[in-house]
Amino acid sequence: MNVIDLHCDALLKLSEAKGKLRFADASELDTNKERLQKGKVKVQAFAIFVEPYIQSDQKFQEVLTQIDYFYSEVLGKNQEMKHIRCWSDLNTLKDGEIGAFLTLEGVDPIGNDLTKLRILYQLGVLSVGLTWNQANLAADGVGEPRAGGLTELGKEIVKLNNQYKVFTDVSHLSEKGFWDVMELADFPIASHSNSKTICNHRRNLTDEQAKALFQKGGLIHVVYNPPFIKEQGKASIDDLIKHIDHFCLLGGIKQIGLGSDFDGIYDKVKGLEDASQSQNLIIKLLKYYNEAEVRGFASENFLSHLPK
Ligand SMILES: [Zn+2]
Repeated sequence: MNVIDLHCDALLKLSEAKGKLRFADASELDTNKERLQKGKVKVQAFAIFVEPYIQSDQKFQEVLTQIDYFYSEVLGKNQEMKHIRCWSDLNTLKDGEIGAFLTLEGVDPIGNDLTKLRILYQLGVLSVGLTWNQANLAADGVGEPRAGGLTELGKEIVKLNNQYKVFTDVSHLSEKGFWDVMELADFPIASHSNSKTICNHRRNLTDEQAKALFQKGGLIHVVYNPPFIKEQGKASIDDLIKHIDHFCLLGGIKQIGLGSDFDGIYDKVKGLEDASQSQNLIIKLLKYYNEAEVRGFASENFLSHLPK
């Protein structure tokens, strides 16, 4: 069964390796072409993520470097990889092709310059998260003790996302920021977050947040990172499915998807350790849910909630 994965950090690894990793088959990449093919991942989102320690005036350059790896290494050297520039491109994928699109994880690289954001839309960024864990000029992330919401700039960015039919991603955002986004965003998504009721971690969503996302027609894509799955002990695929079960109880059965976070996580769920093992999750899900429901989680829920 085809899978759509809303989050990976392969571009960061490609950039850090400075050209030494081949996207086709580098074993250092959880998300490489071979592994995507083996795991039947039909569409993969590639996050642009700039580490917080990079100096402010270098951050946009790093964004461009990662985009260059996306164009030259991911797409340029692998004819099966097809660039999804806009949502309708998803309908054009042929058998054997894998769609790839860009997302931005945190807007601090643009500073207060919305021109830079518009350029990123033009280059194909289809989902924008306002923050990573830290604060920036747009909003506070979950790791900022001030725990503030959106600034005026943050609100402008959400409105621009609406205008460009781009998702506003609430994973990593402070809770106050989340509620500000809920008021403004036409297309909210949590691209890689789990349930706080099942695993009490700052990166997860409360039941109220999950219900609000579902009521707004948004999506929650569950993440395979063990610390977000289980508070103690080793996390299994069944433990991850408990998050899906809980979001279903909250009314999200048609709005749940997958967001592995491969290449951004170091601890792994046994049997779900890189993109090639994606079908292990599907096989397990089919024990508890019918085929149409699992197809929903794997890809269809996302496809039926695209910005339009
Ligand atoms: Zn993340």
